[in-house]
Amino acid sequence: MDEKFKNFIDREKLYNLVNGSIPTEQELDAVLAKARKLKGLSLEDVAVLLRVTDHDQIHKIMETAKFAKESIYGKRLVLFAPIYTGNVCVNNCVYCAFRRDNKAIKRKVLTMDEIEQETKVLLHEGHKRVLLICGESPRNDIDYYCEAIRRTYAARDNGNYIRRINVELAPLTIDEFKRLKAEKIGTYVCFQETYDPVAYKEFHPAGTPKADYLNRLTVMDRAMEGGINDVGLGVLFGLVDYRFEILAIMEHAAHLEKVFGCGPHTVSFPRIEPADGVEFTNHIPHPVSDFDFKKIIAIIRIAMPYTGIILSTRENDEMRKELIEYGVSQISAGSRTNPGAYSEEEEGTGSQFSLGDHRTMDDVISNMIDGGYIPSFCTGCYRKGRVGADFMDLAKPGLIKQFCMPNGLFTFNEYLNDFASPETKAKGKALIKKLVAEVESQQLKNTINENLEKIDGGERDIYL
Ligand code: SF4
Repeated sequence: MDEKFKNFIDREKLYNLVNGSIPTEQELDAVLAKARKLKGLSLEDVAVLLRVTDHDQIHKIMETAKFAKESIYGKRLVLFAPIYTGNVCVNNCVYCAFRRDNKAIKRKVLTMDEIEQETKVLLHEGHKRVLLICGESPRNDIDYYCEAIRRTYAARDNGNYIRRINVELAPLTIDEFKRLKAEKIGTYVCFQETYDPVAYKEFHPAGTPKADYLNRLTVMDRAMEGGINDVGLGVLFGLVDYRFEILAIMEHAAHLEKVFGCGPHTVSFPRIEPADGVEFTNHIPHPVSDFDFKKIIAIIRIAMPYTGIILSTRENDEMRKELIEYGVSQISAGSRTNPGAYSEEEEGTGSQFSLGDHRTMDDVISNMIDGGYIPSFCTGCYRKGRVGADFMDLAKPGLIKQFCMPNGLFTFNEYLNDFASPETKAKGKALIKKLVAEVESQQLKNTINENLEKIDGGERDIYL
């Protein structure tokens, strides 16, 4: 039977799993022993972890997640910046400042020149990867998306250019995805927001395109059918019991794996934050505490060890630091969430939510160096064709470190030479030296050193 485009969420089954009995110490240990093999976990295993309530036991889960993060990703952390191309939206999602009925914000859709200008500002700060986020409205159709992607790739600042564009767009048709593919996008991202069909109906009012639950649920099937290799899933925490959403994400990943042979490239988990003109955000139905949020990231890290976990600027610096340890592998840096804000902040041009992290790119990188992390702007896998199932095949045996670590160091070294403040540069160079000294294979060490020297000599965009 063709499983494509089918509803794969069994609401009752997932809530029953969430509400099962609290696991014994032995049950928990059995799941964590499986997790340490770094091959991922089943839906039932994850349900066991989600039902743990004892703090000491949750710390055990977090320790396992740290082990998985360190074993697979090492000290590398990918950086990107979002570009909001507009805040006009035909939908009326109750939790969002961009909702059609919100009169508290000024609306704007960026022109192509403005998108290019935004890109140049990000290039000037050292960014190489962007996430284009476009609202859903007749002013943002597939022609607009394609042109926005072309202009973003075409932008230049002092010889620098964007090397990977991921896109976050409303659901498209298979033919539209084929057009996106031709524009050479990286990951296609679309959040389900909530996988609970009953809650979905409540939070996405009828009469708007987004009210169609199944259309959104099956968008990744259409994306993959249209040739998109990497897809990114997401939920917005706060709408329903977070444990249900995590099991649903597991089901979504299993569905994609079964039908297309490849699960999601990334998952994102923002929590609802206060937003201008959105009363709903003052009464979040299922708020997720900081402690639960750390538990969530830890569980996802061990459940899907090879899927990137993205954290947005919604979280403050302290939370980010901890979440990185437990599993986050990509963060946005120096972000603005109102359209046109990198170039010039217009009073009242509303952002989608308030930000928890207001640091500049150099501050973010400086703090990462202090924590021993490699800020990576790497786009090597994508440009070498190591995408989709090929990327997963490569990642699973642990080779991710062999390519991603050196490539991360190369892009880090570029950043230090081209953009960093003198203090950041000095400590960043020292960190690179230390990390290279720790590489076990002499051959790999030589390759890394040769390329670092080439970068110091002026060569750019080197990747393995
Ligand atoms: S969440 Fe997205 S679709 Fe909904 S109102 Fe906001 S911008 Fe529009």
